[in-house]
Order: sequence, then structure tokens, then C-alpha cells
Amino acid sequence: MLRLSESVQDYLKAIFELHQESERVTTNALAARLGVSAASVTGMLRRLAELKLVEYEPYQGAALTLSGKRIALEIIRHHRLIELYLMEVMGYSWDEVHAEAERLEHAVSQAFAERIAQLLGDPKVDPHGDPIPTREGEMPLASRRTLVDAPTGAMLCVQRVRDEDADVLRRLAALGLFPNTCFVVKTVNPERNSRVLHLSNGAEVEVEDSLAQNVFIQDVPAASGSALR
Ligand SMILES: [Zn+2]
Repeated sequence: MLRLSESVQDYLKAIFELHQESERVTTNALAARLGVSAASVTGMLRRLAELKLVEYEPYQGAALTLSGKRIALEIIRHHRLIELYLMEVMGYSWDEVHAEAERLEHAVSQAFAERIAQLLGDPKVDPHGDPIPTREGEMPLASRRTLVDAPTGAMLCVQRVRDEDADVLRRLAALGLFPNTCFVVKTVNPERNSRVLHLSNGAEVEVEDSLAQNVFIQDVPAASGSALR
């Protein structure tokens, strides 16, 4: 990786992640994501455009160039491998690893990240269910459907959960909602802004909409053969 400052790396990662949520990555969305002013975003986007890492036209939003995307995917690979390492090897809990990985992702070398990957047997997903980009910079598209969109009666599974908010992760863990947990939505309670899920382990849990927004779902994977008992 070129010698890029932490803040450049954070911008590339934020543009990549915002682009997964919507086609256009606006200055305002970036400012909100990174907690900086729109003016400083504009300044940085000009710099990144000069470095040919970003394509940027005022009022058109920003997009990563091929080299910008490659760097973003490498940082994301580091981040997700570190999260898994902290959990599997160092005994961190899943609500502690994101903040630690945010710092370490910039510090580790590519060789260090590859040693982690080797040690963990080339893992495909991180502790929150997010796909780990391959060494070659490929990553499958993750689900954008959240639990709020889940219809009643159908069997579905958690694919991944948002990892930024430690409190959200603790609340999900308390309910037993982890990646690969399958469930049926029994009832939706609009007046309570919540829904009741019947989990495949037999438990029934009530999930508020504000929490459900952080849970991305998928149909039951064909090979899992999981069934409600
Ligand atoms: Zn994370």
C-alpha cells in the first residue's frame, strides 16, 4: 500500500462503505459518517482526486477509482481479520473488537494481516457476519435487507449485524441474535414498534425496530439445513 495517512485511509473506507448503501456518495453523507465538516470533506476529496484515488466533481458526489477501491478493500480486510483474531485468539467479546480494529487496521502491515489469515485458516466472515475481502480484493455483496423488512411467517436467518455501536451488539447478544441465527417473525406490533421472533433454538424474543434496523437478514442458506424445532 502507498504510504497514506490514516485519515486518507479512513476516507477511502468510508466512501467504499457508503457506496454499498447507496449509488451516490455525497459530501454530506461523508461528513456525517466521519464526524467532520462538509468543507473539510470537500478539501480532502480534491486531494484524493489529485492522487487519482477518487473521482470527484462538485455536486456529483464521490466515487473510488480502481486503485482507491483496492486500498479500501485492503483496509477492510485488515479490519475484519483483526476483529476475528481479537475474538478467537485474544478472548475479546464481539462488542469490543470494532473500536480496537479501527485503530489497528492502519498499523499492521500486509504481511502481518496475512499471518493472521493463515493462523485463522483463511476465514470468510468476521465476528459480525461481514464478508472478509480476499487477498486479491474480492468481496461478495452483503445483504441490505434488515429485520424491519422481514415478513411474518417466513423462516429467515441473520446474515450480519452493524458493528459500530457496542451497545447495539450487547443488546443483540442478550437476545441471542447472532449471524447464522435463524428465526420466524411471529408477530409485528406497530403500536410497540417491535416484533416478536421465534428463534430456531426455541426462544421467543421481542426486538424493537430501532434495534432491528441493525440486523441484516437473508433467506435460509440452502446448505444449512436448519429447521425450527
Ligand atoms: Zn468492525
